Amino acid sequence: AHLINQIAAGEVVERPASVVKELLENALDAGSTRIEIDIEQGGNKRIRIRDNGSGIPHEELALALSRHATSKIASLDDLEQVCSLGFRGEALPSIASVSRLILSSRHTDASQGWQLFGDGQEVFDAPAPVAHATGTTVDVVDLFFNTPARRKFLKTEKTEFGHIEDMVRKIALSRFDVSFELSHNQKNTLRLRPAEDRSGAERRIAEICGSAFVEQSVYLDYEAAGLRLWGWVGLPTFSRSQADLQYFYVNARNVRDKLITHAVKQAYQDVMYHGRHPAFVLFLELNPQLVDVNAHPTKQEVRFREGRLVHDFLFRTLYQALADIRP
Ligand code: ADP
Ligand code: MG
Repeated sequence: AHLINQIAAGEVVERPASVVKELLENALDAGSTRIEIDIEQGGNKRIRIRDNGSGIPHEELALALSRHATSKIASLDDLEQVCSLGFRGEALPSIASVSRLILSSRHTDASQGWQLFGDGQEVFDAPAPVAHATGTTVDVVDLFFNTPARRKFLKTEKTEFGHIEDMVRKIALSRFDVSFELSHNQKNTLRLRPAEDRSGAERRIAEICGSAFVEQSVYLDYEAAGLRLWGWVGLPTFSRSQADLQYFYVNARNVRDKLITHAVKQAYQDVMYHGRHPAFVLFLELNPQLVDVNAHPTKQEVRFREGRLVHDFLFRTLYQALADIRP
């Protein structure tokens, strides 16, 4: 099983940023409102994520590091309507198999915290008591220390940290109500306070996407036939030469999907924003049963049960919003 974990790690854990993604998703699934991310040496040395979520009960600590032990899916029916970001029970065991991992947690109902040490093997000593507030800290040290071939593929500290920053930004845009703090080599690089309203959300967007985008975008919020689309779309005056500013979330999960990209592009073109790269931060909300997030382990792709309906809804809503503000 140890080897299986390492093989699975090849799918889930490509680089430090993918560890950060999995740990952040777990923290969000646990209902955290405050998440701190401490990185050392681009994550090659250390990735530590501390949350104030529900915590893990003492008797489930070791289980959390075993393969396919997820607390989030109890039945096949649940799989039909996944609301949590994780559901495979693969991430923690995979990460634990390619690092020295320290899992510390205190469950809401517990009077103290417990800590488990891993050294890339599958056996763990019994949990030791530790001082910890309600919530969880996952400390991933020396990533890929026991898989030299993988370690060789790690890029420079700066590059890996860049990927981590992108990941944190992407996830921070999915949950305006949660605060995120990111530091690199003990220096704070990002501090995002929880936003209570739209202007708070716009402050966060400005921080992540630049204030020009907020100034040169429109806010929309439209609902029909059980589908809701809300968020910000860039005006034609907004142009950005650097990387795309395209953030799309389905039920608070960041996705890259052909159908979505196509609908958005089509709407932009039809309102004659030719030659412009659409810029947007958009959130689609729908019944979880109408979308399959089970397509791939890294879960960036989704499959809609009624693709045509979703496509047309997106196209029409965006077309209308853009046409309304066309100069
Ligand atoms: P999954 O997220 O797919 O369930 P993971 O391997 O990511 O699987 O995590 C395994 C289990 O460990 C989760 O189902 C959850 O019960 C527990 N867990 C992991 N991280 C946290 C956390 N930050 N807070 C509370 N529980 C956690
Ligand atoms: Mg998970």
